[in-house]
Amino acid sequence: MTEKQTTLKESVTIEGQGLHTGQKGSMTFVPAPAGHGIKFKRTDLPGTPVVDAIVNNVISTNRGTCIGIGEAKIHTIEHVMAAFRGMSVDNALVEVDMEEVPIKDGSAKYFVEAIDKVGIQELDAEREYYVIEETITMEIPDKKTRIEIRPSKRFSVDTVIDFESRVLGEQVAKMEDISQFKAEIAPCRTFVFLHELEFLLKNNLIKGGDLNNAIVFVNRKVPQEEMDYLADLFNKPRVKVNGNGILNNLSLYFDNEPARHKLLDVIGDLYLLGKPIKGHITATRPGHHANTEFGKLILNHFNQKN
Ligand SMILES: [Zn+2]
Repeated sequence: MTEKQTTLKESVTIEGQGLHTGQKGSMTFVPAPAGHGIKFKRTDLPGTPVVDAIVNNVISTNRGTCIGIGEAKIHTIEHVMAAFRGMSVDNALVEVDMEEVPIKDGSAKYFVEAIDKVGIQELDAEREYYVIEETITMEIPDKKTRIEIRPSKRFSVDTVIDFESRVLGEQVAKMEDISQFKAEIAPCRTFVFLHELEFLLKNNLIKGGDLNNAIVFVNRKVPQEEMDYLADLFNKPRVKVNGNGILNNLSLYFDNEPARHKLLDVIGDLYLLGKPIKGHITATRPGHHANTEFGKLILNHFNQKN
């Protein structure tokens, strides 16, 4: 049985704020023909440039995956890409009127809901996969990162994270089939450690972040005056640390939500191959740099064969 390529039945718009620039804007998913793939269009720039969402257009992996050609950059695309892969959307044009996509709650939930709202349409063309036929492994020893993909009839991902910290030690997440994505992976939000957050705030690297779009882990005792300072920054009357080392009133959807979010990132980053994969991935301590480098390694593998 062959599967058909898909796109959206109609356009759908999501409004929101970018995490890093704090810009407010909108993003519209527009239906696209077979063979188009996923592309991003900067509607706010002269000439409305379009950038293909492919791994060779990745220009930065610092706190999010950024693609770009020249001045046309789009930051933090990974959760949108995960939503397309998770919902099996092959073709779409993503129009954005700012330099990053809305962060929403730091998960892929809102993007999945938008896709669900308009529905998916089959196109008259066969879906192609990268079918993994031999194991490919990549290691980054100084980060203790290891990513491996081996042959499998479906697309499945295991992630292992370990921040070697009291509040966030080793944690494992598994997705055995893409059909689990929507309920079990898409809602899982990004996370950050308090010391990173303070660095980001002081260096103006995070602006749209309020306490609702990242799980904040607190690794140390924080003096009350610092908590008050944070509350001010985030426009909250007060913030506190819960028993499990998480800041504020935000509660986890799953005990292993951070590992599930890293799994979501792996799915989104590897959809930058331009086609879905059939293979089983095991990713230990993954990150955007490792994920996109691994994507390039897979592509090289296929290019050498042909
Ligand atoms: Zn992420």
